[in-house]
Amino acid sequence: MKNIAVVLALAILLVAVAWVGQTRVIVRRAEREVLLMDTFVRLVVHGRQSQAALDDIIDATVKEMARLESVLSAHAAGSDVDKLNTAATAPRVVSDETIAVLERAKQVYERSQGAFDVTIGALMRAWGFGTDARAVPTPAALAEALPGVGFEHVEMDVSQRTVRLTHPNTQLDLGGVAKGYIVDQAILFLAQRGITNAFVEAGGDVRVLGGFPGQFIWEKPRAVRIGVQHPTQPDALIAVVSTYGGAVLTSGDYERYFIQDGVRYTHIVDPRTGMTVRGIASATIVAPEAALADAIATAAMVLNVEQGIALIESFPGVMGLLVTEDGTVVMSQGMSAITELTGR
Ligand code: ADP
Ligand code: MG
Repeated sequence: MKNIAVVLALAILLVAVAWVGQTRVIVRRAEREVLLMDTFVRLVVHGRQSQAALDDIIDATVKEMARLESVLSAHAAGSDVDKLNTAATAPRVVSDETIAVLERAKQVYERSQGAFDVTIGALMRAWGFGTDARAVPTPAALAEALPGVGFEHVEMDVSQRTVRLTHPNTQLDLGGVAKGYIVDQAILFLAQRGITNAFVEAGGDVRVLGGFPGQFIWEKPRAVRIGVQHPTQPDALIAVVSTYGGAVLTSGDYERYFIQDGVRYTHIVDPRTGMTVRGIASATIVAPEAALADAIATAAMVLNVEQGIALIESFPGVMGLLVTEDGTVVMSQGMSAITELTGR
């Protein structure tokens, strides 16, 4: 009698386990790390889909990100940016994505009084960023690049999808916003395929969708904790930011730079002077979208602390944490509620 009860219980358990698998109450996870945009890109997706379906969705998302990179890159021959930079003031038809990025860039250009400016392409080249020959430019080289800098040299016709760079020296470089935009597009792409919980990171630009779920669908998702690197202690975090959704990303003077005669020159330039920026060591921005966060983070590196905080607080739903060169941490309204400082 007892044996029958045990066998019966086991059978019921077996059926229950099979049912759980069948009816998709288990949340599966797929993860991928690839090299794109000159950096590591990491995707994590969760869903009730089969493992194979999740893997296919990740494959397709990576392909889409690579496609967007080939459109928006300043260096890839044949990209929209390349087409415009070689058009010698003639108009060119570009993709919807390029128009979307330029409109976002224009908005942050205006709000930041020109601190964020995607027309710094010739300046970046004068400094040799993106090449092996990085060096402080001669005054003559700066004087040649500067007249083409300014978003007023970008003429857009949204209905025709044409863009014209009106000054012969104007060169676009979307490096301060494109990575964030591509992360946004990856999250949208995933959402359109039924993914409700995901994490996409490109070189420190993070966007989260729905937090991290548990193993079963009835478990509440957890917030994703994102470490903010300490600008002067490479192995330490200065803060941890928690979020269920939206973008968290950092621009820092420690990421891409070169040293000449003992002075460090970082890869963000002040469009008004042509010089590389100083004063802010890193800017961490939390925003609904990564493209916006990316542009604001780059702008904050150009501005001083007060102007940077004012820029951040001028956008609804945007928060930030600035670290100055001397290690002072300054947070905007609301930021401390989602931030743990490590005390380093
Ligand atoms: P990273 O790409 O290292 O995460 P950022 O998001 O801060 O860093 O972007 C830096 C890039 O932005 C530079 O490599 C350059 O392409 C571009 N850039 C530099 N200065 C400016 C500026 N003042 N406005 C807009 N874009 C800029
Ligand atoms: Mg940026």
